[in-house]
Amino acid sequence: MSDNNIWVCTVCAYEHDGEPADDFECPLCGVGKESFEKAE
Ligand SMILES: [Zn+2]
Repeated sequence: MSDNNIWVCTVCAYEHDGEPADDFECPLCGVGKESFEKAE
């Protein structure tokens, strides 16, 4: 889906709606944006 913009934490599978900001931290495990990847 081209309009899907869900990002998933690769550590804990937390789902974030929209691309995380550069200083975003996962609210569950505390990793940064670099540990998120866009969901298919
Ligand atoms: Zn996480």
